[in-house]
Formats: sequence, C-alpha cells, structure tokens
Amino acid sequence: MVYSFKTFLKHTAKDFHNQSVNPPIVRASTIIFKSMQNIRKTQKQNIKDPTGGHYDYGRQGTSTTHVLSKILTKLEESYHVFLTPTGFGSVFLAIFSLVRPGDEIIVADPVYSPTRLLTKDYLKEFNIKTKFYNPHDLNSIKKNISKKTKLIFVECPGSNSFEFQDLSKIISIAKKNKIFTAIDNTWGTPYFLKPIKLGFDMSIVSATKYYSGHSDVMGGSLAVNKKVFKKVQIAEKITGLRMGPDDAYLVTRGLRTLDVRLDRHQSNAMKVANFLTKNKKIKVLYPLKKGSLNYRLWKRYYEGASGLMGLRIKSSKKKVIKFVNSLKLFGHGYSWGGFESLALHQEIREHGDRSYLNLSKDEHIVRLHIGLEDPKDLIEDLSRSLKFIK
Ligand SMILES: *Cc1c(COP(=O)(O)O)cnc(C)c1O
Repeated sequence: MVYSFKTFLKHTAKDFHNQSVNPPIVRASTIIFKSMQNIRKTQKQNIKDPTGGHYDYGRQGTSTTHVLSKILTKLEESYHVFLTPTGFGSVFLAIFSLVRPGDEIIVADPVYSPTRLLTKDYLKEFNIKTKFYNPHDLNSIKKNISKKTKLIFVECPGSNSFEFQDLSKIISIAKKNKIFTAIDNTWGTPYFLKPIKLGFDMSIVSATKYYSGHSDVMGGSLAVNKKVFKKVQIAEKITGLRMGPDDAYLVTRGLRTLDVRLDRHQSNAMKVANFLTKNKKIKVLYPLKKGSLNYRLWKRYYEGASGLMGLRIKSSKKKVIKFVNSLKLFGHGYSWGGFESLALHQEIREHGDRSYLNLSKDEHIVRLHIGLEDPKDLIEDLSRSLKFIK
C-alpha cells in the first residue's frame, strides 16, 4: 500500500526499538564501536552508501538528524537533503558548494536581503561577480550569461515584493547554457512546490519557518539532485554546517502537521487578502487576482499559497508605520511561518539596492504573516488599524 504524503507525515519515524511514536533524541559527538574493524566497516559503508546514515562521528549527524533528512528527502522528491543549523546556512552551503573564484552568478533581484548581502558584497571579495535579474523579464537572465556563469539563484516569490516567476523557463535557459540552478523555496515549501522534480539542482527551505511552525527553533534544509550531491557533500564536510539533534527533533515534530497548518494558513490568508483588496490604497501582493501575471505564474507551478503576503500601500511613511504599530493581534518582529500573525514595515528603499522594483516616494511595503488565529479577529484588527492610512 502506498500512502499519501499526508499519511506518511503522521506515521513516519516511529521508534520500534523504544516502542515510542516519535524518534529518540540521540546526542553524540563520539560514536562507540566494538572494534577497529567495526569502525572501518562503517566508514566503508558510508562511502558506498553516503545517504544511508552510517556515521562514525557526531559531526555527520546522528539517527535523529538522519530521520529528518529521510522525511524531507521524500517530501522534496530529491536525491538527498542536507540539514544546516539555520536556513541561511543552507543558502551559504548551496553557493559555496558550486561557486569558485573567477565565476559569476545570476541572482533574483528581490532575493532575501542577507542573500543579497552575501552575493553582491561578500562574494566580491573572493572575485565572484553577481548580476541580478528582473523576475518578470527573463531576458535579463539571458543578457547576463557569460562563459563564467556558474549558478542561477532563484527565490520565488521574491522577498517582500512577491514576484512569481516562470520557473521552467529559468531551468531551460540554465540547462541550455550548462549552468547550475538553486531556488529558495521557503515560501512554498515542497508541500506546494517541488523544485527538484521541476528540474532545479538544489532547493533551499528555512526550516525555521513552516517546517517547525512554532517559532521556537532554527534550521535549514538543502535538497539536491544526484548531479550536485557530491559537491555539496564535500562542502558540508569542509564547513561543518550541520543541524543539532535537539533542533532536528523539533523540526520533525513540526512536520507532522505541516499540511494541516499550511492549509489553514492558506485559507486564513485568502480571507484576509480578500478583505484587504477592497481598500483602494492597498495593492495586495498575494496570488489572488485571476488573470494577473503573478496569479498565472503561481497557478502554473504551485499547489497552494502560504500565509505570507505583502501590502503595497499608497500613503506617507508616518501613516503606514502608525497603521502597523496600532495592530494588536499582529506581533512586530522578524521571521515568519509560525502559528502567530506578524506585521512589519519593510525598509526596502532604505536598504537600498533593488534594481527593478519601482516604488514611488509615497509607496510603502508592509509584510504580513497570516497565522492560525481566527481570521475574523485578524480582519477586525486590520480594519480598526486601517483608519490610519485613509
Ligand atoms: C528566513 C529566510 C531565510 C533564512 O532562514 P533562517 O532560518 O532565518 O536563517 C532564507 N530565505 C528566506 C526566503 C527566508 O524567509
């Protein structure tokens, strides 16, 4: 019997040895063997079967991280999933695995701002050049390709401005030019989009967000196909980036309800977005308006939408900040993907460098994460606060 993934998430990782429904947390630096021969045997097994969890030292993980990696490998339909201490660790590992001095990379203009800092500024010090592409004009990828281009780094939808992109077209441009591809899929998670199946070489998810779902743990996952597996395996070994077993346990626990939570995040977000579109000052950055470019691209690739959206508001900065501050149910803070709703005024202009986002002086972006509260209460909170941006 082949169960659906929703069932698999509920029934996986039972521990028959301890007769517990959940896997034990195995903490280890030293792993003990009966003899030198047994150590060598395990090392040989690890070389022959590098995704099989034959470990001889804690830096490679323990059975607790192995269980999580296996679940995510199945969810991603990938060859393997590497686990990192934070989501950004996975972004770093993806780039560090493939890119070398002298290379160039092409990155989505609306990428997560730490990723922008890493690629635009930090990599420059290693003689690696970054060019940014317009998420809605893929000719800007083609125009930037040179013999040195090693990687196209996508984030879909774009951070804060939420541009959906023609993912198959990006992959086909990359394949034609023998360029590797990576995508940051934190917004959709493989529950809504399976990038490796689509043809990406690498797919990143910040486990801090929806995987854990409870705002109490950080982690990252980097899913890879067979083509890049060895390169990432070497880089992982060199950097020592790995998730700890306690964190892996919490992420595994969160994953049990990933589908249930995301379905609810989606239905709550739809209700809130439908309410907000009635306001003439606000353009809701969420795949809602049938016929719009973003809606069509979302529909083509995604099975659903998560709870994070942007509001492009025409008003003064002072009024927009007053609106955000007066929200009571929405917390003000970074991160997202937990059970609770959050609101932030995004200082995009102040952070400078978007090449392709044309925000006029009286336009501001507020990011909302729609949590699992009763949507009626969220709408009431928003409705009360919106009077400040009349
Ligand atoms: C949060 C986030 C990250 C980084 O994840 P951390 O777990 O916070 O390090 C990367 N990409 C996107 C799109 C994110 O939202």
